[in-house]
Amino acid sequence: GGRPAVVQEKPGVTRDRREFVAEWQGTGFLLIDTGGWELKPGEALTSEIRSQAEAAVSAADAVLFVTDATTGLTDDDAGVADLLRRSQIPFVFAANKVDDAAKEGAAAELWSAGLGKPVPVSAFHGRGVGDLLDALVGVLPDLGKLPEADPVPSVAVIGRPNVGKSTLLNRLAGMERVIVSEIPGTTRDPVDQMVDLDGRVFRFIDTAGIRRKPKIKEDADFYSVLRAREVLERADVTLLMIDAFEGVTHQDQRIAADAVEAGAALVVVVNKWDLVDDEARHRLESDLGDRFGFVGWAPVLRMSALTGSRVGRIRAALDLVLETRTTRISTGVLNRLIREWTGAHPPPVRAGRRPRIQYVVQGGDSPPTFIVFVSGGELGDDYLRFLEGRLRDAADFTGTPIRVFTRSKDRRR
Ligand code: GDP
Repeated sequence: GGRPAVVQEKPGVTRDRREFVAEWQGTGFLLIDTGGWELKPGEALTSEIRSQAEAAVSAADAVLFVTDATTGLTDDDAGVADLLRRSQIPFVFAANKVDDAAKEGAAAELWSAGLGKPVPVSAFHGRGVGDLLDALVGVLPDLGKLPEADPVPSVAVIGRPNVGKSTLLNRLAGMERVIVSEIPGTTRDPVDQMVDLDGRVFRFIDTAGIRRKPKIKEDADFYSVLRAREVLERADVTLLMIDAFEGVTHQDQRIAADAVEAGAALVVVVNKWDLVDDEARHRLESDLGDRFGFVGWAPVLRMSALTGSRVGRIRAALDLVLETRTTRISTGVLNRLIREWTGAHPPPVRAGRRPRIQYVVQGGDSPPTFIVFVSGGELGDDYLRFLEGRLRDAADFTGTPIRVFTRSKDRRR
């Protein structure tokens, strides 16, 4: 019932490996669509798909083997059947396109595969799909039930063209999971990629957009900002990649500002660390202070997506910022703190009026949002920044934007 893989009548059309988080009768599982499997290496893309399928099967807990009852067993089917019989892996054998009872006879012929009785289904009409899922859940190893509320966090990888986004994604996904191919039509519309990082699954958003390369240089930077805006809407965390050698550019600043605006948590990835010499390193460090000062609370990871050096630190950074993004400070603690802060640094007089902070509440999280009730005047931006700084000292808000709004308590406003 999720976003479907591309379905067409021609063999070999389902190209990328699609993954879906699925659930049946309280058992959760990750369903991987391998994009079809042909044992005979043909054109380039077919062999790419085959190696992906083989990798998927070797990493799988169970296999759902789908055959076409209307065509009977092909040589390729027989090859797969042979492999399944010899392997230890649990499997379910499905005979598809059994649209009505009359076609069940055709399914019976598939007994010849030597895999026992096929489960007759019609994927198109939904016939027999419940029984198929029962069978599938039945052969899965018992890994416990699905946790109640643990939605998969969404991660957006953003940055200017050529900073290394695809390289990083491929490295994280491993096994060349993202097909990078010059064959037209391989890159499709927004595709999310589920990636398992040391046992925790993350949803990487719009991985197709990462691979889509604009042709014209001027458009490229503009496009990268535009794409970032779109994916940020859906992201819990942003991995903002910059090029260690080029330092922090104006475009990088715009993308970072958009990330803050959208409210996603932020991790800055300084990529191509393998290329920097002392001079570039100094330039970068001062850039981070001068030009990325406004996101100084974001963790900065220096790495090389190409060599894989320090890429392993991403998981811990994601865990951290997902946690801090939901941090809450109780109203009691908040107001004790605010009395301290305003006692030491009262809000300055503005336009002849001295504002007074009545109290503060945390209105929400993701990102943490604070509402300051004020009377007798207005707080200036400087003072709001001062409060944000104090709040960041009071609790760990590493990697998350926080918002501070004011509400006037003055009756006439
Ligand atoms: P994208 O446009 O952001 O997706 O960038 P790509 O992943 O396509 O990378 C652009 C180029 O930078 C490619 O030639 C990569 O091999 C190279 N590249 C990516 N990461 C690194 C890295 O960590 N170090 C070096 N030296 N090159 C890298």
